[in-house]
Amino acid sequence: MRKGKTFIICGPSGVGKGTVVARLLASDPSLYFSVSATTRPPRPGEEDGVHYHFLSMEQFEQWIAEDQFLEHAQFVGNRYGTPRLYVDRAMAQGRDVLLDIEIQGAEQVKRKRPDVVRIYVAPPSWAELERRLIGRGTEDMEKVRSRLARGREEFSAAKDFDYFVINDTVDRAVEELRAIMTAEHCRPEERMALIDR
Ligand code: ADP
Ligand code: 5GP
Repeated sequence: MRKGKTFIICGPSGVGKGTVVARLLASDPSLYFSVSATTRPPRPGEEDGVHYHFLSMEQFEQWIAEDQFLEHAQFVGNRYGTPRLYVDRAMAQGRDVLLDIEIQGAEQVKRKRPDVVRIYVAPPSWAELERRLIGRGTEDMEKVRSRLARGREEFSAAKDFDYFVINDTVDRAVEELRAIMTAEHCRPEERMALIDR
């Protein structure tokens, strides 16, 4: 059986991570998207258990105490974490797993599971990032500014990632992400094990 791989998608808020992830999932039902837990309130249209598990601060701390998270981090006033159970279950089924998480969480996962593939998604410019984040209309201006500042601070960390994708058009970014995922399954350590000798 093909082995499942974990792909981490990171990048500044508003760059289009959710958009490209939705496209990848729509075209490949075998991909597993890890639904994170968060203490931030749902945006209009976001469903509990689909986009996030929306938890109170107490529930979030309970999940930490129960060691339910593969990683967790704070992001602009809220907490976010990846439940370990579903990721492991999907990997055991040979499915690829997508994590849409921020950079501290990505570092924690990389330390625990060195074979994860980390992909940084960047905007074509900071001006365009600002337009997208404001255009999405989900945060007030203070939060937009905090999210932009955080994105700029973390940009230099992208040099340690495995791949760097510029989301200029969604089609092109998605094509590159698919190419990366395909190439990662062509590594000798995985492919050689599939040959009947
Ligand atoms: P993130 O998940 O990274 O915070 P979203 O996927 O919510 O970002 O995208 C932020 C906004 O930018 C949304 O309104 C989305 O429709 C828009 N968007 C995403 N990708 C592009 C693109 N390539 N060109 C223009 N707008 C985009
Ligand atoms: P948003 O509030 O816009 O949905 O997400 C804010 C940031 O939190 C994004 O960078 C997103 O990738 C990140 N994030 C979402 N889920 C998780 C998670 O489980 N863990 C970590 N560390 N970050 C997450």
